[in-house]
Amino acid sequence: MSFPFPPPSSGAFDPSASSGTFASAGSAGPEGLVCSAKGCRAQARHALLWNNPKLHDADRRKVWLACEEHLTYLSDFLSLRGFLKDVIPPEELTDAHG
Ligand SMILES: [Zn+2]
Repeated sequence: MSFPFPPPSSGAFDPSASSGTFASAGSAGPEGLVCSAKGCRAQARHALLWNNPKLHDADRRKVWLACEEHLTYLSDFLSLRGFLKDVIPPEELTDAHG
């Protein structure tokens, strides 16, 4: 798998300069997985598995998808609440996840 994305190390990423660096339309990865962050249409690079014990069975896993930019935001959100269970590559998601 290789995608035409810049390396995540670039701290100079500027969301306001969205002039086609991300080729989102039409080439959205193996299964067209898109970041779960609100308003974000970027290719998902991580799958966050989480569980809210007040709502879900203990072995249930909910999935959020995250691009490189939103991985920290989403994983912090879940881990602060104690919900975050695992982070895996989206390719490793199965039908059991949902
Ligand atoms: Zn995103």
